[in-house]
Amino acid sequence: MYRDILTPYYLLKVFKHQRYLGNEPKKAQNKLLCRLIAEAYQNSPFYRKIFDGIKLTSKDIKETQDLKRLPVINRRQVREALEQGSILNRKYLKGSICRSTSGSSGLPLTVVYDIKSYAYTDAIYVRSLLKQGVRINDRIAYFWYEPFRKRSFWEKMGIFKKFEIIYTENEKLQFSRLEKIKPSVIISFPTLLLPLCERIKNKKVSFKPRIIITHGELLTEDTRKRIEEAFNACVVEQYDSNEFKTIAWQCTEGGNFHINDDSVFIETLNENNEEIKEGELGKIVITGLSNIAMPLIRYSVGDYGIKTNEICRCGIISSMLKSIEGRGDDFIITPEKEIISPRRIGGILEKFESIREYKFLQEEITKFSLFIIPSGKFSNEDEMNIREALSNVLSKGARLFIEKIQSMPRGKTGKIKAIESRVSRYG
Ligand SMILES: [Zn+2]
Repeated sequence: MYRDILTPYYLLKVFKHQRYLGNEPKKAQNKLLCRLIAEAYQNSPFYRKIFDGIKLTSKDIKETQDLKRLPVINRRQVREALEQGSILNRKYLKGSICRSTSGSSGLPLTVVYDIKSYAYTDAIYVRSLLKQGVRINDRIAYFWYEPFRKRSFWEKMGIFKKFEIIYTENEKLQFSRLEKIKPSVIISFPTLLLPLCERIKNKKVSFKPRIIITHGELLTEDTRKRIEEAFNACVVEQYDSNEFKTIAWQCTEGGNFHINDDSVFIETLNENNEEIKEGELGKIVITGLSNIAMPLIRYSVGDYGIKTNEICRCGIISSMLKSIEGRGDDFIITPEKEIISPRRIGGILEKFESIREYKFLQEEITKFSLFIIPSGKFSNEDEMNIREALSNVLSKGARLFIEKIQSMPRGKTGKIKAIESRVSRYG
């Protein structure tokens, strides 16, 4: 209830921000940053240890430029700190909201938002949607891994009506649900829409979305074209993550991404964590400016991107990203040459609490290996349940080998390719 009051309050606030951020983005960001740093230093033992280790105090970080003095942290470190309870600011946990990572990162993480930050980032999300052309009376088909548990404030008010499409279900069901909903907007991971593109091409469909917003994974030019052609709709991206919610949104006018400067501060760095020039591809490192309960300061999200100085022709002045390169997970190919999105596999596996980390590998067309680092005990029943869940997705003759391992093999950049296929889609 409290959140329902907070969200519209923050929406008014973030719309005002956009007017003045353009002139003084640094001042506004630095104000948010100072509060975040002071709280993290005082009340989060994880950060206190970092500060003490390099002999700094919160007073040494007054503006975004000073962040360079702090180390870059990654998901693994945050997870450990969360397990030890050292990253959370206990003063802000009352009414806090947990969000677990979905998708196929292979290293699930729960993010704890304090109630104000959750409402604030919700407002940022709504502002981003409106700027991308979504209208309040739109019917939104939203691809998600489970039924929505709670309706948002907006929906209770009868606006931004969201209808979930469960992407772990088969495509036929997803498609008939779309026909029933008749959405004017679709929000989805791009790879989930590709199999539907084929289905739509050969059929007369009764719905025509105006905008398709993709998020969660890389949208290649090829994928964009295929979705645009099949659905005959404008396709734009949002850059989001469970750690920060909406980070940046692609402008329908300029094509670049407007960063939500009043919610995040973004750096692009090289492999030695040094700053790189605008226009160069680098590791995306984010400081979330609003979440005091679980501060994420100089957090490497595992994506790569290019920052740009270009000013957008839409008139909104903000920091900009030219492109974002996500994790490159693979599609799984069936003997019938159909493709299964990595998100479907990831969505199934990440429901199991017994899995701490995983890698799912298609070695041959009907041979699969699932490598698991279990969280605590891993019983035969756990294994059976996983097999059963995956059997709904994999083809009938598929052989699945499940192996428990101690550590996860990593790629060159240190990233895990959580869903990998060695079978060519075209072979
Ligand atoms: Zn723009």
